Amino acid sequence: MLGSSRLFQNQLLRWYRLHRRELPWRAALGAHPDPYYVLISEAMLQQTQVATVIPYFLRFIKTFPTLADLAAADQQQVLHLWQGLGYYSRAGNLRLAAQKVLADFGGRIPQTVPELLTLPGVGRYTAGAVASLAFGQRTPILDGNVVRVICRLDAIQDDTTSASVRSKLWIRAEELLPTADLGDFNSALMELGATVCLPRRPACDICPVRAHCQAHATGIQERLPARAARKARPVERRWIIGIAHAGRFLIEQRPAKGRWASLWQFITLLAVDTPTARIISSATGLRLGRVRSLGSFTHNLTHRRYEFQVYRCEATGDVANVSPRVWVSAAELAKYPLPQPHLHVAQMLQNGP
Ligand code: SF4
Repeated sequence: MLGSSRLFQNQLLRWYRLHRRELPWRAALGAHPDPYYVLISEAMLQQTQVATVIPYFLRFIKTFPTLADLAAADQQQVLHLWQGLGYYSRAGNLRLAAQKVLADFGGRIPQTVPELLTLPGVGRYTAGAVASLAFGQRTPILDGNVVRVICRLDAIQDDTTSASVRSKLWIRAEELLPTADLGDFNSALMELGATVCLPRRPACDICPVRAHCQAHATGIQERLPARAARKARPVERRWIIGIAHAGRFLIEQRPAKGRWASLWQFITLLAVDTPTARIISSATGLRLGRVRSLGSFTHNLTHRRYEFQVYRCEATGDVANVSPRVWVSAAELAKYPLPQPHLHVAQMLQNGP
């Protein structure tokens, strides 16, 4: 195949060495990055843009400079540093992975894909990234950028979300690998996808491997990679209620499993009709004054869409017995990790009528 030639590898590597972005988790050219940095950055980069990740990464390694620091960290502190990045299970798994590395691998992140796959939250992609980028192992990686580049190089027009096509792409990613400079080569493929072979309007005129690209040769690059039509996202409706008392708001912790696991939120109820003080009282055990609407907003996730209606009301009478919920001031609220929609609600409550 065109894309597996030595010339292709050399052209891509040469371009990467000249044009790669300086990123805080990357090492100097020719050196291997710290595997701990690779593990954290790859977890953060899943479904998230590089520009968003950089400040999170810097804060994270400032707080937990070593894997041992992360293993000993408090779960809520880790979640707090992740606040706003989404997919919070990644944060919990990173901490568990650090603990497993200490317990089972003597504190050294393992070098091989099979060993890396035993760490919580580490899948084939992250294992390949750590093994190749940090340890120079000859193993492929296949993220969204690499999928796009390979589909275009080989003019693959099948649906890339199908398992059989994915497995062919893994094989193809392995075939492309050179015999040396594995970390740089995998980084170069991802970098090409992130900066040149863009989803829309790829910059083919400056592409270092254009001569090897079958999609460009036939002018179909913008139609690739092909995807099955996306299913409509189900809509879930919730009320979020800022219950206030003496300058404090009532918050509750989410369950330890599932979406936004272990994060905190304002009182959230399934939306059924129009919330009244009676309905909210029966859910919280509090006596409440008038319920006022502060507005509504939507929050899109990959597989579902939330519609939140936001209300505020005052609690009256005895407010002491609310365990396991807690009353917090605005200053105290900043210490609790909140999902993105509830950060937005905190803002609405501050600005509200
Ligand atoms: S020529 Fe265009 S479509 Fe082909 S790999 Fe380069 S940027 Fe992507």
